[in-house]
Amino acid sequence: MQTDFKELISYSHKLKVLFIEDNEEVRMQLLKLLENFFSDIQIECDGLNAYENYIKNPNKYELIITDLSMPKLDGIELSKRIMEKNPNQLIVVISAHTESEKLLKLINIGIYKFLKKPVDYKDLVSTLSSIVYKIKREKIYHELENRIECIENDNEELSKLASTDKLTSLYNRHFIDTVLNQKFNNKQKKEFSIIFIDIDNFKNINDTYGHLTGDKILIEFSNILKNNIRKNDILGRWGGEEFIIILDKTTIHTTKDIAEKLREAIELSNFREIGNLTASFGLSTYEENDTINSLVQKADFSLYKAKQNGKNSICFIKNLNEY
Ligand code: GH3
Ligand code: MG
Ligand code: MG
Ligand code: MG
Repeated sequence: MQTDFKELISYSHKLKVLFIEDNEEVRMQLLKLLENFFSDIQIECDGLNAYENYIKNPNKYELIITDLSMPKLDGIELSKRIMEKNPNQLIVVISAHTESEKLLKLINIGIYKFLKKPVDYKDLVSTLSSIVYKIKREKIYHELENRIECIENDNEELSKLASTDKLTSLYNRHFIDTVLNQKFNNKQKKEFSIIFIDIDNFKNINDTYGHLTGDKILIEFSNILKNNIRKNDILGRWGGEEFIIILDKTTIHTTKDIAEKLREAIELSNFREIGNLTASFGLSTYEENDTINSLVQKADFSLYKAKQNGKNSICFIKNLNEY
């Protein structure tokens, strides 16, 4: 009990209190009592001034201790206005009036506690300890909430980093592998296509303009792809100057249209420093008994064919045995 009381006193001294009492004599008496617990007490002599002070900064005071009968604005109206501004405000009303009608009004407004004048010291201590306990608990809860939010943000940031290619901000190879694995592990009907995209003669760009310019071209190129695909298409950097798009629930017919649109968008783009550029496209669509390997091989082989056909073109091979 001794340590509890010490703790209560040391904690209550940290709290900011707004104290309102119109009668000077009572004010001095109560203040003496309150000063045993609080060192930061703002005193107001009427409800209106108190309210004007309060609304300047509704979060400033941990506790409001107010008289009930006061001229201009009484304790009921003051409490009502304060609770409208800040429903979490702790208010203790102290009064000699104990008419049930007034008490009911105060309860409905949501004040924390009513204390009868003259204030009994034991009552005051027990009210203050429950207030201090409540404030402490809410602070801890708040800190926990903040900490959880930080951890969640960090996690989100980390998983974004782990799945993103640093240069282009597209999905990286690791993420694409995960998506492909999920697609093949899914028991549902697999209906999707992939497109491999490889920039034509990219080595020349590095050799002519330097690696840094090459990097900028990769970013510009990625943005063109990003701006010309559908919302659900998954675009990633497969490696180097090669990219992949996974198109869910997409027939080969639509895949060809999308690839052609991309090919044209790239061909017609004016890249900073270097001007024009082209790319080749290898298409592959899921057939029964396909594995990740066979699906990727078909796209690879299609891409190889597109290069053989003179680059800046799209190619689709349905079956590896065809060739
Ligand atoms: P092709 O038309 O047959 O595809 O010819 P290519 O020159 O595009 O292909 P090649 O495989 O010969 O060269 C690819 C080049 O891409 C070589 C490599 O240095 C470059 N490269 C790969 N990753 C990056 C990168 O992150 N930044 C830059 N600047 N260059 C890269
Ligand atoms: Mg009064
Ligand atoms: Mg390549
Ligand atoms: Mg290339």
